[in-house]
Amino acid sequence: MSSPTEAPAVTVLGLGPMGRALAGAFVNAGLRTTVWNRTPGRAAALVARGAVSAAEAQEAVAASPLTVVCVVDYDAADSVLRREAVTAALRGRTVVNLSADTPDRARDAAAWAASHGVRYLDGAIMTPTTTIGTPQAVILTSGPADLHQEHLPVLEALGGSLTHVGEEIGLAAAHDIALLDIFWTAMTGYAHALAVARAEGIGARRLAPFAQGIAAILPPIFAEMAGQVDDGDFSGEESPLTSAASSMAHIAHTSEAHGIEAGTMRAAQALVRRAIDEGHGGDGFTRIAELLGRR
Ligand code: NDP
Repeated sequence: MSSPTEAPAVTVLGLGPMGRALAGAFVNAGLRTTVWNRTPGRAAALVARGAVSAAEAQEAVAASPLTVVCVVDYDAADSVLRREAVTAALRGRTVVNLSADTPDRARDAAAWAASHGVRYLDGAIMTPTTTIGTPQAVILTSGPADLHQEHLPVLEALGGSLTHVGEEIGLAAAHDIALLDIFWTAMTGYAHALAVARAEGIGARRLAPFAQGIAAILPPIFAEMAGQVDDGDFSGEESPLTSAASSMAHIAHTSEAHGIEAGTMRAAQALVRRAIDEGHGGDGFTRIAELLGRR
Protein backbone atom coordinates (compact mmCIF):
# COMPACT_ATOMS: atom_id res chain seq x y z
CA MET A 1 0.00 0.00 0.00
CA SER A 2 1.28 3.45 -0.83
CA SER A 3 1.23 6.16 1.81
CA PRO A 4 -1.39 8.92 1.41
CA THR A 5 1.30 11.25 0.08
CA GLU A 6 2.74 8.75 -2.37
CA ALA A 7 0.71 7.81 -5.43
CA PRO A 8 0.96 4.20 -6.69
CA ALA A 9 3.64 3.57 -9.30
CA VAL A 10 3.21 1.99 -12.70
CA THR A 11 5.59 1.31 -15.59
CA VAL A 12 4.72 1.26 -19.28
CA LEU A 13 7.00 -0.56 -21.74
CA GLY A 14 6.30 0.44 -25.35
CA LEU A 15 5.45 3.94 -26.50
CA GLY A 16 3.71 3.43 -29.81
CA PRO A 17 0.37 5.25 -30.18
CA MET A 18 -1.33 2.87 -27.73
CA GLY A 19 1.50 2.75 -25.19
CA ARG A 20 1.59 6.55 -25.16
CA ALA A 21 -2.19 6.66 -24.60
CA LEU A 22 -1.93 4.20 -21.69
CA ALA A 23 0.96 6.09 -20.10
CA GLY A 24 -0.89 9.38 -20.63
CA ALA A 25 -3.94 8.04 -18.80
CA PHE A 26 -1.78 6.90 -15.87
CA VAL A 27 -0.14 10.33 -15.70
CA ASN A 28 -3.54 12.04 -15.84
CA ALA A 29 -4.70 9.86 -12.95
CA GLY A 30 -1.79 11.15 -10.86
CA LEU A 31 0.12 7.85 -10.80
CA ARG A 32 3.92 7.81 -10.66
CA THR A 33 4.49 6.68 -14.22
CA THR A 34 7.78 5.38 -15.58
CA VAL A 35 8.08 4.75 -19.31
CA TRP A 36 10.50 3.05 -21.66
CA ASN A 37 10.58 2.45 -25.39
CA ARG A 38 13.02 0.51 -27.58
CA THR A 39 13.62 3.55 -29.77
CA PRO A 40 14.49 6.55 -27.64
CA GLY A 41 12.84 9.94 -28.11
CA ARG A 42 9.18 8.92 -27.87
CA ALA A 43 8.70 9.97 -24.23
CA ALA A 44 9.21 13.74 -24.44
CA ALA A 45 5.53 14.75 -24.29
CA LEU A 46 4.85 12.32 -21.44
CA VAL A 47 7.88 13.54 -19.48
CA ALA A 48 6.65 17.11 -19.93
CA ARG A 49 3.40 15.97 -18.25
CA GLY A 50 5.20 14.32 -15.33
CA ALA A 51 6.26 10.82 -16.43
CA VAL A 52 9.77 9.54 -15.79
CA SER A 53 11.64 8.20 -18.79
CA ALA A 54 13.97 5.27 -18.03
CA ALA A 55 17.07 4.70 -20.14
CA GLU A 56 16.87 0.90 -19.79
CA ALA A 57 13.89 -1.47 -19.63
CA GLN A 58 15.18 -3.09 -16.41
CA GLU A 59 15.39 0.33 -14.79
CA ALA A 60 11.78 1.05 -15.81
CA VAL A 61 10.56 -2.31 -14.50
CA ALA A 62 12.36 -1.85 -11.17
CA ALA A 63 10.54 1.46 -10.59
CA SER A 64 7.05 -0.06 -10.08
CA PRO A 65 5.31 -3.16 -8.72
CA LEU A 66 3.24 -3.25 -11.93
CA THR A 67 4.53 -3.13 -15.52
CA VAL A 68 2.14 -2.73 -18.43
CA VAL A 69 3.58 -3.94 -21.73
CA CYS A 70 2.13 -2.61 -24.98
CA VAL A 71 4.25 -3.38 -28.03
CA VAL A 72 3.37 -4.61 -31.50
CA ASP A 73 3.20 -8.36 -30.66
CA TYR A 74 4.61 -11.08 -28.38
CA ASP A 75 7.85 -11.48 -30.35
CA ALA A 76 8.49 -7.84 -29.47
CA ALA A 77 7.30 -8.28 -25.86
CA ASP A 78 9.47 -11.40 -25.42
CA SER A 79 12.51 -9.63 -26.84
CA VAL A 80 12.18 -7.08 -24.02
CA LEU A 81 10.89 -9.17 -21.08
CA ARG A 82 13.19 -12.16 -21.65
CA ARG A 83 16.39 -10.13 -21.50
CA GLU A 84 18.29 -11.43 -18.45
CA ALA A 85 18.45 -8.09 -16.64
CA VAL A 86 14.76 -7.35 -17.28
CA THR A 87 13.65 -10.82 -16.15
CA ALA A 88 15.71 -10.44 -12.98
CA ALA A 89 14.13 -7.05 -12.26
CA LEU A 90 10.65 -8.49 -12.82
CA ARG A 91 10.96 -11.26 -10.23
CA GLY A 92 8.11 -10.84 -7.70
CA ARG A 93 6.51 -8.04 -9.73
CA THR A 94 3.47 -8.10 -11.99
CA VAL A 95 3.33 -7.82 -15.78
CA VAL A 96 0.09 -7.00 -17.55
CA ASN A 97 0.69 -7.67 -21.22
CA LEU A 98 -1.71 -5.57 -23.30
CA SER A 99 0.08 -6.28 -26.59
CA ALA A 100 -2.07 -8.12 -29.13
CA ASP A 101 -1.27 -11.67 -30.25
CA THR A 102 -2.75 -15.17 -30.21
CA PRO A 103 -4.10 -17.20 -27.23
CA ASP A 104 -1.19 -19.64 -27.63
CA ARG A 105 1.36 -16.84 -27.30
CA ALA A 106 -0.41 -15.66 -24.14
CA ARG A 107 -0.17 -19.19 -22.70
CA ASP A 108 3.50 -19.36 -23.61
CA ALA A 109 4.15 -15.97 -21.97
CA ALA A 110 2.36 -17.08 -18.79
CA ALA A 111 4.39 -20.31 -18.62
CA TRP A 112 7.59 -18.31 -19.04
CA ALA A 113 6.49 -15.86 -16.33
CA ALA A 114 5.60 -18.65 -13.90
CA SER A 115 8.99 -20.27 -14.36
CA HIS A 116 10.76 -16.97 -13.65
CA GLY A 117 8.81 -15.81 -10.60
CA VAL A 118 6.95 -13.12 -12.54
CA ARG A 119 3.27 -12.56 -11.73
CA TYR A 120 1.41 -12.40 -15.03
CA LEU A 121 -1.92 -11.16 -16.36
CA ASP A 122 -2.76 -11.11 -20.03
CA GLY A 123 -4.99 -8.53 -21.63
CA ALA A 124 -6.49 -7.10 -24.80
CA ILE A 125 -7.48 -3.56 -25.69
CA MET A 126 -10.66 -3.50 -27.76
CA THR A 127 -10.99 0.23 -28.47
CA PRO A 128 -8.79 2.90 -30.16
CA THR A 129 -6.20 5.12 -28.48
CA THR A 130 -8.62 8.04 -28.23
CA THR A 131 -10.85 6.08 -25.83
CA ILE A 132 -8.10 5.32 -23.31
CA GLY A 133 -8.75 7.12 -20.03
CA THR A 134 -12.39 7.76 -21.03
CA PRO A 135 -15.59 5.81 -20.27
CA GLN A 136 -15.45 4.41 -23.83
CA ALA A 137 -12.30 2.31 -23.23
CA VAL A 138 -12.85 -1.45 -23.33
CA ILE A 139 -10.04 -3.58 -21.91
CA LEU A 140 -10.17 -7.30 -21.16
CA THR A 141 -7.87 -9.23 -18.85
CA SER A 142 -7.42 -12.94 -18.18
CA GLY A 143 -5.39 -14.91 -15.68
CA PRO A 144 -5.45 -15.01 -11.86
CA ALA A 145 -8.54 -13.11 -10.67
CA ASP A 146 -6.78 -12.04 -7.46
CA LEU A 147 -4.01 -10.40 -9.51
CA HIS A 148 -6.64 -8.53 -11.53
CA GLN A 149 -8.29 -7.36 -8.29
CA GLU A 150 -4.99 -6.36 -6.73
CA HIS A 151 -4.03 -4.08 -9.63
CA LEU A 152 -7.52 -2.84 -10.46
CA PRO A 153 -7.07 0.47 -8.59
CA VAL A 154 -4.17 1.33 -10.94
CA LEU A 155 -5.59 -0.22 -14.11
CA GLU A 156 -8.88 1.64 -13.62
CA ALA A 157 -7.02 4.81 -14.63
CA LEU A 158 -7.26 3.44 -18.19
CA GLY A 159 -10.98 4.16 -18.04
CA GLY A 160 -14.09 2.49 -19.35
CA SER A 161 -14.86 -1.09 -18.59
CA LEU A 162 -12.00 -3.27 -17.45
CA THR A 163 -13.37 -6.81 -17.56
CA HIS A 164 -11.71 -9.93 -16.23
CA VAL A 165 -12.91 -12.57 -18.72
CA GLY A 166 -11.56 -15.63 -16.87
CA GLU A 167 -8.71 -17.41 -15.13
CA GLU A 168 -7.54 -19.25 -18.25
CA ILE A 169 -4.73 -17.02 -19.46
CA GLY A 170 -5.57 -17.29 -23.18
CA LEU A 171 -9.12 -15.95 -22.77
CA ALA A 172 -8.41 -12.23 -23.30
CA ALA A 173 -6.51 -12.98 -26.52
CA ALA A 174 -9.25 -15.41 -27.57
CA HIS A 175 -11.89 -12.68 -27.16
CA ASP A 176 -9.62 -10.31 -29.07
CA ILE A 177 -9.24 -12.75 -31.97
CA ALA A 178 -12.99 -13.42 -32.17
CA LEU A 179 -13.90 -9.74 -31.98
CA LEU A 180 -11.26 -8.68 -34.49
CA ASP A 181 -12.51 -11.44 -36.78
CA ILE A 182 -15.79 -9.51 -36.90
CA PHE A 183 -14.03 -6.17 -37.25
CA TRP A 184 -11.71 -7.04 -40.14
CA THR A 185 -14.32 -8.99 -42.05
CA ALA A 186 -16.68 -6.02 -41.74
CA MET A 187 -13.95 -3.56 -42.75
CA THR A 188 -13.11 -5.68 -45.79
CA GLY A 189 -16.79 -5.79 -46.70
CA TYR A 190 -17.08 -2.02 -46.36
CA ALA A 191 -13.95 -1.34 -48.43
CA HIS A 192 -15.32 -3.70 -51.10
CA ALA A 193 -18.76 -2.09 -51.00
CA LEU A 194 -17.21 1.37 -51.46
CA ALA A 195 -15.33 0.13 -54.54
CA VAL A 196 -18.43 -1.48 -56.08
CA ALA A 197 -20.59 1.57 -55.28
CA ARG A 198 -18.00 3.87 -56.85
CA ALA A 199 -17.94 1.70 -60.00
CA GLU A 200 -21.73 2.21 -60.14
CA GLY A 201 -21.32 5.98 -59.76
CA ILE A 202 -22.17 6.21 -56.06
CA GLY A 203 -19.68 8.25 -54.05
CA ALA A 204 -18.55 6.99 -50.66
CA ARG A 205 -20.16 9.92 -48.80
CA ARG A 206 -23.45 9.19 -50.50
CA LEU A 207 -23.34 5.54 -49.53
CA ALA A 208 -22.14 6.14 -45.96
CA PRO A 209 -25.52 6.91 -44.29
CA PHE A 210 -27.04 3.77 -45.84
CA ALA A 211 -23.93 1.79 -44.82
CA GLN A 212 -24.42 2.98 -41.25
CA GLY A 213 -28.04 1.83 -41.48
CA ILE A 214 -26.88 -1.66 -42.50
CA ALA A 215 -24.39 -1.70 -39.59
CA ALA A 216 -27.19 -0.70 -37.20
CA ILE A 217 -29.31 -3.73 -38.06
CA LEU A 218 -26.50 -6.05 -37.01
CA PRO A 219 -26.54 -5.78 -33.15
CA PRO A 220 -29.97 -7.39 -32.67
CA ILE A 221 -29.10 -10.00 -35.30
CA PHE A 222 -25.86 -10.78 -33.41
CA ALA A 223 -27.79 -11.20 -30.15
CA GLU A 224 -30.47 -13.43 -31.67
CA MET A 225 -27.94 -15.54 -33.56
CA ALA A 226 -25.84 -16.04 -30.41
CA GLY A 227 -28.82 -17.55 -28.62
CA GLN A 228 -29.57 -19.77 -31.60
CA VAL A 229 -25.95 -20.96 -31.87
CA ASP A 230 -25.83 -21.82 -28.16
CA ASP A 231 -29.19 -23.62 -28.44
CA GLY A 232 -28.38 -25.42 -31.71
CA ASP A 233 -31.35 -23.72 -33.39
CA PHE A 234 -30.81 -23.40 -37.16
CA SER A 235 -34.26 -22.23 -38.19
CA GLY A 236 -34.26 -19.86 -41.13
CA GLU A 237 -37.88 -19.21 -42.02
CA GLU A 238 -37.44 -15.44 -42.32
CA SER A 239 -34.09 -15.59 -44.11
CA PRO A 240 -33.04 -18.99 -45.49
CA LEU A 241 -29.57 -19.75 -46.86
CA THR A 242 -31.00 -20.13 -50.38
CA SER A 243 -31.92 -16.44 -50.25
CA ALA A 244 -28.46 -15.49 -48.92
CA ALA A 245 -26.83 -17.47 -51.77
CA SER A 246 -28.83 -15.56 -54.36
CA SER A 247 -27.94 -12.17 -52.83
CA MET A 248 -24.26 -13.09 -52.64
CA ALA A 249 -24.25 -14.17 -56.29
CA HIS A 250 -25.63 -10.76 -57.33
CA ILE A 251 -22.86 -8.99 -55.42
CA ALA A 252 -20.12 -11.21 -56.89
CA HIS A 253 -21.45 -10.82 -60.46
CA THR A 254 -21.76 -7.04 -60.20
CA SER A 255 -18.24 -6.73 -58.74
CA GLU A 256 -16.65 -8.96 -61.33
CA ALA A 257 -18.52 -7.20 -64.16
CA HIS A 258 -16.64 -4.07 -63.09
CA GLY A 259 -13.34 -5.97 -62.87
CA ILE A 260 -13.41 -5.77 -59.08
CA GLU A 261 -12.24 -8.96 -57.40
CA ALA A 262 -14.89 -10.63 -55.28
CA GLY A 263 -12.81 -13.22 -53.43
CA THR A 264 -14.29 -12.50 -50.00
CA MET A 265 -17.86 -12.76 -51.28
CA ARG A 266 -17.00 -15.85 -53.35
CA ALA A 267 -15.61 -17.49 -50.18
CA ALA A 268 -18.80 -16.67 -48.27
CA GLN A 269 -20.88 -17.95 -51.18
CA ALA A 270 -18.90 -21.22 -51.21
CA LEU A 271 -19.72 -21.79 -47.52
CA VAL A 272 -23.41 -21.15 -48.09
CA ARG A 273 -23.36 -23.41 -51.16
CA ARG A 274 -21.79 -26.22 -49.11
CA ALA A 275 -24.54 -25.94 -46.51
CA ILE A 276 -27.24 -25.94 -49.22
CA ASP A 277 -25.64 -28.98 -50.92
CA GLU A 278 -25.84 -30.78 -47.56
CA GLY A 279 -29.58 -30.16 -47.56
CA HIS A 280 -29.62 -27.13 -45.23
CA GLY A 281 -30.93 -24.54 -47.74
CA GLY A 282 -33.93 -23.79 -45.53
CA ASP A 283 -31.75 -23.10 -42.47
CA GLY A 284 -30.69 -19.66 -41.31
CA PHE A 285 -27.15 -18.25 -41.21
CA THR A 286 -26.57 -19.96 -37.85
CA ARG A 287 -25.92 -23.11 -39.90
CA ILE A 288 -22.70 -21.49 -41.23
CA ALA A 289 -21.31 -21.19 -37.71
CA GLU A 290 -22.10 -24.87 -37.14
CA LEU A 291 -20.49 -25.84 -40.45
CA LEU A 292 -17.32 -23.85 -39.73
CA GLY A 293 -17.14 -25.16 -36.18
CA ARG A 294 -17.03 -28.84 -37.15
CA ARG A 295 -13.74 -30.49 -36.22
P1 NDP B 1 2.31 -0.77 -32.83
O1 NDP B 1 1.47 -2.00 -32.90
O2 NDP B 1 2.90 -0.28 -34.08
O3 NDP B 1 3.47 -1.00 -31.76
C1 NDP B 1 4.49 -0.06 -31.63
C2 NDP B 1 5.30 -0.35 -30.42
O4 NDP B 1 5.93 -1.66 -30.50
C3 NDP B 1 6.45 0.65 -30.28
O5 NDP B 1 6.66 0.92 -28.92
C4 NDP B 1 7.62 -0.14 -30.86
O6 NDP B 1 8.88 0.33 -30.45
C5 NDP B 1 7.33 -1.49 -30.28
N1 NDP B 1 8.09 -2.54 -30.90
C6 NDP B 1 7.95 -3.06 -32.15
N2 NDP B 1 8.87 -4.04 -32.35
C7 NDP B 1 9.61 -4.13 -31.21
C8 NDP B 1 10.68 -4.95 -30.79
N3 NDP B 1 11.19 -5.91 -31.58
N4 NDP B 1 11.18 -4.77 -29.56
C9 NDP B 1 10.68 -3.82 -28.74
N5 NDP B 1 9.66 -3.00 -29.06
C10 NDP B 1 9.13 -3.17 -30.29
O7 NDP B 1 1.50 0.46 -32.23
P2 NDP B 1 0.43 0.63 -31.05
O8 NDP B 1 1.10 1.33 -29.94
O9 NDP B 1 -0.75 1.29 -31.65
O10 NDP B 1 -0.03 -0.82 -30.63
C11 NDP B 1 0.54 -1.52 -29.54
C12 NDP B 1 -0.33 -2.74 -29.28
O11 NDP B 1 -1.65 -2.29 -28.94
C13 NDP B 1 -0.47 -3.65 -30.49
O12 NDP B 1 -0.41 -5.00 -30.11
C14 NDP B 1 -1.84 -3.29 -31.03
O13 NDP B 1 -2.45 -4.36 -31.74
C15 NDP B 1 -2.59 -2.97 -29.75
N6 NDP B 1 -3.77 -2.13 -29.98
C16 NDP B 1 -3.64 -0.92 -30.60
C17 NDP B 1 -4.74 -0.15 -30.87
C18 NDP B 1 -4.63 1.20 -31.53
O14 NDP B 1 -5.67 1.84 -31.76
N7 NDP B 1 -3.44 1.69 -31.83
C19 NDP B 1 -6.11 -0.62 -30.50
C20 NDP B 1 -6.13 -1.87 -29.79
C21 NDP B 1 -5.00 -2.60 -29.57
P3 NDP B 1 9.74 1.30 -31.42
O15 NDP B 1 9.17 2.67 -31.21
O16 NDP B 1 11.11 1.11 -30.93
O17 NDP B 1 9.54 0.80 -32.83
